[in-house]
Amino acid sequence: MTTEPNPISSPNEPTNPVLGVPALVVSGFLGAGKTTLVKHLITDAQQQGLKLAVVSNEFGELGIDKALLQEAGGPGYVELEGGCVCCQLTNELLETLQSLWETIRPDRIVVETSGVALPFETLMTFWREPITEWVGESLAVVVANAEQVADGRDLEGTFEQQVSSADIVVLNKVDLVPEESLGKLEHILQDMAPDAPMIRSIKGQVDTNVVFPPTPTQTPSSKRKGQSEHRPHTHEAFESEEISILPKITPEELIQQLQSLQALRIKGIVNTSEGLKLVQGVGPRIDLSVPPSNLPQEIIGRLVAIRRK
Ligand SMILES: [Zn+2]
Repeated sequence: MTTEPNPISSPNEPTNPVLGVPALVVSGFLGAGKTTLVKHLITDAQQQGLKLAVVSNEFGELGIDKALLQEAGGPGYVELEGGCVCCQLTNELLETLQSLWETIRPDRIVVETSGVALPFETLMTFWREPITEWVGESLAVVVANAEQVADGRDLEGTFEQQVSSADIVVLNKVDLVPEESLGKLEHILQDMAPDAPMIRSIKGQVDTNVVFPPTPTQTPSSKRKGQSEHRPHTHEAFESEEISILPKITPEELIQQLQSLQALRIKGIVNTSEGLKLVQGVGPRIDLSVPPSNLPQEIIGRLVAIRRK
């Protein structure tokens, strides 16, 4: 295995459709900062020239934020009201996503749930026909309010259920609590979600490579790097590395090697002793699955890993 460190960077080309359209369910308790995170994802997609479709099921809380979101999101922004997307509106969510696919062909999908929704239940919609045909990796990001965790407010019930089904936990509003308490807060969340990578943020500013990792064929953008230098303290620093894996490795060895990297995200295609595998990793969880057919040759044997600097 060889690794080539790259400076942190973002793709400036559309997501490789060969690996499907990545989808993110953004959940979190009331006041956690979900909408701020979604706005950040919208801005990031705009900067990269990517089409982001947002389906929002958040209601009652947002006021002006919602108007801004709608403006920024344009035709790819849909609100679902009259119920919860994790239970009552699952068919509506399915139909909305399929119609977004047919009309705007998004590069990325974000579903913002209400404060009471359960992310895992919402994710299940992505595994249903017909959208499972074009959706790639789907993950639940749960935003937690550092102040709420520090105060020990409402940490049981819905909050715990949400965090425990998170693929990634964003500890938001870390500027509102003493820095020395952050380790303790992360420990509380880690008890609820032992395998989920945890990232700290202020105002929902997360490195989008962590939630939407680039595929190996996407070239790093130097422009983005320049921008991030102007605001180095808004989010934790990550770097992307391209990793080459020698062919015919066994799946067990592959998983072991990749886990030893301690990456937050890993994505790519490897030629294993059991054939081509699509590798998708979130924290210690490394999933191997059968890749789509007709893969471009240049993507085979290459992985991108996103790690803490
Ligand atoms: Zn629900």
